[in-house]
Amino acid sequence: MALIVQKYGGTSVGSIDRIDAVAEKVSRFRNNGDDVVVVVSAMSGETNRLTALAHEVMEQPTPREMDVLLSTGEQVTIALLCMALEKRGYGARSFTGGQVRILTDDAHTKARIREIDSSRMHAQLQQGNVVVVAGFQGVDENGNITTLGRGGSDTTAVALAAALEADECQIYTDVKGVYTTDPRVVDDAKLLHSITFEEMLELASLGAKVLQIRAVEFAGKYKVPLRVLSTFEEGSGTLITLEEEAEMEDPAIAGIAFERDEAKLTVAGVPDVPGIAYKVIGPVSEAGIEVDVIVQNAAADGSNDITFTVKRAESDKAKEILDTVATSLQAAAVILDKKICKVSLVGVGMRSHAGIASKMFKALAEENINIEIITTSEIKISVVIEEKYLELAVRALHSAFELGETETKNIPD
Ligand code: ASP
Ligand code: MG
Repeated sequence: MALIVQKYGGTSVGSIDRIDAVAEKVSRFRNNGDDVVVVVSAMSGETNRLTALAHEVMEQPTPREMDVLLSTGEQVTIALLCMALEKRGYGARSFTGGQVRILTDDAHTKARIREIDSSRMHAQLQQGNVVVVAGFQGVDENGNITTLGRGGSDTTAVALAAALEADECQIYTDVKGVYTTDPRVVDDAKLLHSITFEEMLELASLGAKVLQIRAVEFAGKYKVPLRVLSTFEEGSGTLITLEEEAEMEDPAIAGIAFERDEAKLTVAGVPDVPGIAYKVIGPVSEAGIEVDVIVQNAAADGSNDITFTVKRAESDKAKEILDTVATSLQAAAVILDKKICKVSLVGVGMRSHAGIASKMFKALAEENINIEIITTSEIKISVVIEEKYLELAVRALHSAFELGETETKNIPD
């Protein structure tokens, strides 16, 4: 018998049939003697629908009222799920974030959790009830409803699991778990039995969209055993573990992430003097544009080229800013390339295995793919390449590192 927190996302509670199916799933754990706290999202599409309604009323709805509005989506699903459980003869109680008392700061639409009172949930569990909590919402010190930002139900689940000291936090979703790469790109992508928090964080921030990044950070910080698994198919999913399991055949690479919608900007021919990088990058980030990979190259004439990537949607705005900067610095040119993407290899095994980078570059060279930028950290290597090569690059790397389902074993060289 265990205490389990389960989170079901929007598609998992997207219709009454699906809510019934979730109730079935939950009841199996109850029959097994487990205590269950369930966190649910709004029915799929509901948060978007409510957002659109708000924008019909005014262009920039006030954040406080936005939270009052959006929190209703989850309030619907907690009640429906409790009814579905009651219909099956199980005791169940629904709670909004405020009723549990998930205390947050007052940053409406992007609030952070400060404190969770677990006593009410414990009391319900003791009476044999399933506790069903609305995801994505909390309450500030003054009793105002707050929300945690899109996708925030993952964070609610992890935070409740931490507060309750649950044995496991299970995130049920529409995929079977975390794969070596996106199965839509590589048929042979393999479901990972486990992955470390560090790797999961890198993969999530590099474009893999299985879990909200904040939820992973939170789980790592509070050491919550986290599992991602499918609502619709049987299977034990992917366990996100604290430590790299020191097994002989542990692969150096856990997975490959990629991001399509990137753009590259180069400010060419800037003077090689202190403060230039700041003068180039400063105005761009001050405009709220997130700057990703940055490189600086020295040209033969002693000047520098500064190149960096941004989200494609923000690249025109960044170019405009840089045109002004370039004029004042008397730079040679500002070049915008919108047809690039980023492909990254991630794995804690990189720390102990040599030759990963050269193997990566070899695999790309064999496909005649030109690498435009390379960046590395302790557990990842990213390359920026032409967008049209994305699929080819991901497939080539996936097979070079033998990550596939049909590969025999991942013995690193
Ligand atoms: N319903 C919210 C959203 O769509 C929260 C969540 O699903 O996690 O962002
Ligand atoms: Mg979601």
